[in-house]
Amino acid sequence: MMARRPLIAGNWKMNGLKADGVALAEAVARKVKAGPAPADVLICPPATLVDRVAQTVAGSGVAVGGQDCHAVQSGAHTGDVAAAMLKDLGASHVILGHSERRTNHGETNATVRAKAEAAHAAGLVVVVCLGETEAERDAGRTISVVESQFKESLPSGTNADNTVIAYEPVWAIGTGRTPTNAEVAEVHAALRASAAKVLGAAVADRLRILYGGSMKPSNARELLAIKDVDGGLIGGASLKVDDFWAIVEASR
Ligand code: PEP
Repeated sequence: MMARRPLIAGNWKMNGLKADGVALAEAVARKVKAGPAPADVLICPPATLVDRVAQTVAGSGVAVGGQDCHAVQSGAHTGDVAAAMLKDLGASHVILGHSERRTNHGETNATVRAKAEAAHAAGLVVVVCLGETEAERDAGRTISVVESQFKESLPSGTNADNTVIAYEPVWAIGTGRTPTNAEVAEVHAALRASAAKVLGAAVADRLRILYGGSMKPSNARELLAIKDVDGGLIGGASLKVDDFWAIVEASR
């Protein structure tokens, strides 16, 4: 098995105005520059800040991503943002299929797949989120849910360079609750096996599978040490540089 370099990604969600967004980005860039960081570092500000944040971190090694994009490259889609627009602002990544978008905007696996196709075409790396609801876990359906999300959300042409997977149990996002280490290990192993089946063993071996859902400084080391966990997607704790950086350090 090849060693996969961890990726620690911050999802700022709908938080940040110009001044605080730039200050947070500057602080993260300073940490990375003081490095060497033990992980690749990605920050995903709201679309309104991608431009400024990308300019702020330019040359630091910090990557910048959007939190969503449309499935087509331009046209009559009021309020939406195209993948090429994110790329044009300096983004290299885009989060797709976050549970908040699946829930609040009715995104299906097919929507996520179409968006991923557009993002790949624009040259962005996609961070595809998947995970079970609490009811699905209680019904013993976790593995079958994430396996079908994996199969149905990824477009042809998916590889380990243009795609990252984030396993985010819906019930763990923003709640302070996390699965047990054994539960995380079980899902990540199942996703690695799905990747081997769908994308081939060589791609599966290189594909980064992040864990997300209430990761914080106090639990990051344990979660990041689990086999097949190749980093984290961090919501709340990515809004404070000290917390975010403690998680980056925990991947060491
Ligand atoms: C997320 O929204 O992707 C997330 C993991 O949030 P939190 O860390 O706040 O649970």
